Amino acid sequence: MNKYIKKVLNGLKEKNINESEYLQAVEEVLTSIEPIIDNHPEYERTALLERMIEPERIITFRVPYVNDNGQTIVHRGYRVQFSSLIGPYKGGLRFHPSVNQSIIKFLGFEQIFKNALTGLPIGGAKGGSDFNPKGKSDDEIMRFCQSFMTELQRYIGADVDVPAGDIGVGEREIGYLFGQYKRIKNIYEGGALTGKGLSYGGSLVRKEATGFGLIYFMREMLAHNNQTLEGKTVTISGAGNVAIYACQKSQEYGANVVAMGDSSGCIYDKNGIDLKLIKQIKEVQRGRIFEYLKVHPEAEYFECKGGDSPIWNIKTDIALPCATQNEITLNSAMKLVKNGVIAIGEGANMPCTKEATEYFLKNNVLVAPAKAANAGGVAISAVEMSQNSMRYYMSFEDVNTKLNDIMINIFITCKIASDKYNLGHNYMAAANIAAFEKLSCAMNAQGIV
Ligand code: NDP
Repeated sequence: MNKYIKKVLNGLKEKNINESEYLQAVEEVLTSIEPIIDNHPEYERTALLERMIEPERIITFRVPYVNDNGQTIVHRGYRVQFSSLIGPYKGGLRFHPSVNQSIIKFLGFEQIFKNALTGLPIGGAKGGSDFNPKGKSDDEIMRFCQSFMTELQRYIGADVDVPAGDIGVGEREIGYLFGQYKRIKNIYEGGALTGKGLSYGGSLVRKEATGFGLIYFMREMLAHNNQTLEGKTVTISGAGNVAIYACQKSQEYGANVVAMGDSSGCIYDKNGIDLKLIKQIKEVQRGRIFEYLKVHPEAEYFECKGGDSPIWNIKTDIALPCATQNEITLNSAMKLVKNGVIAIGEGANMPCTKEATEYFLKNNVLVAPAKAANAGGVAISAVEMSQNSMRYYMSFEDVNTKLNDIMINIFITCKIASDKYNLGHNYMAAANIAAFEKLSCAMNAQGIV
């Protein structure tokens, strides 16, 4: 390994010993940019890598709220403003009991590279809380969001830092967060949050953008390898925002989506997933995926019993992990390969462990890497910000065309980097390199900051 990279990784491990997800994300990037670092020994003198992997700012704060029983509950809020190198900090908020500093730092770090790949002027950030929205009433969600924003509002703004959704934060939560932001700031600053509802400044296609974008990237990757989605079997983990719209676009392209899941288990419907029903269960009723069986008793349900998700045991051509980090382990990767998988599309952030990714690449499975393949969501968030600045709305068709163009460009950017550095099908390394080239150029231009 390049000596400078080794030194940086060792230093990072010493300082962040308990932050496994953050270490994993940084190691993946630094090991893949070795050919560039080998050619730029001068980067060591300006500590370019140390500066790139250290967040500009980490904010943690207390979030108290009163639940429906009158009990006060205290959670911890986070905002990691990682990099403002190429634009205002930008990245989602995650509400999930597993949230901690390591997870928010890994997500913020990945966001810098993802945002660079979109070609749009947005920096990298992430935030959230260890609050679990599952099972909470609307009133509880509202009170929590208001308390969260009462503190967060000090640090954000349309030209400073622009949060959006992620796991556990959808249109409902963004609405409550925006309402409180507007009330405290006494200003209608639409561009301070994205993923807003269509009635008050949201963009058409934002809801669909991550899932649609994933499938546009997958379509390009398959086409460059003489394949199409038509007739392929697809399995999708998760049944949230990303998973639902990845399913919709896959079906539109003629694929047969046979399985979807949530954290309790997955359903297998060999006749093809009834997406209308999934939307009703998840978007309207906020229910569990096994409720699918009430309408389709012929489908099968496999419960998660801890450990690897049962969805990866199902035979498929294309697997789309769209739930959470490290959900495909080496063990699951081996099962997928044994069952003949040809492509993985990372809708979630860092859904494959390092060992799983290496195994896929060794077995000639195409991997659409998260930083590139799920960048459609943040790209359309940036388009939402532009519309808010212009006080203007684009049509569904125009935004969708823009999304398609952005995803094609991201694929071409990866392909060019892959050709330049002889990376073959390793689009993950290619995405890291392409983003790093842009970011290091901006970093050098801006001096030691
Ligand atoms: P949602 O909250 O809408 O949905 C998440 C889905 O994943 C749910 O079905 C949830 O099941 C499942 N899930 C969450 N955590 C776990 C877990 N630990 N184990 C098993 N299943 C889990 O989130 P999104 O769809 O927005 O996000 C999904 C992934 O996509 C995340 O990795 C996110 O970072 C990434 N992403 C999202 C973007 C966006 O625009 N929303 C943009 C780019 C990336 P359950 O309901 O049972 O918890």
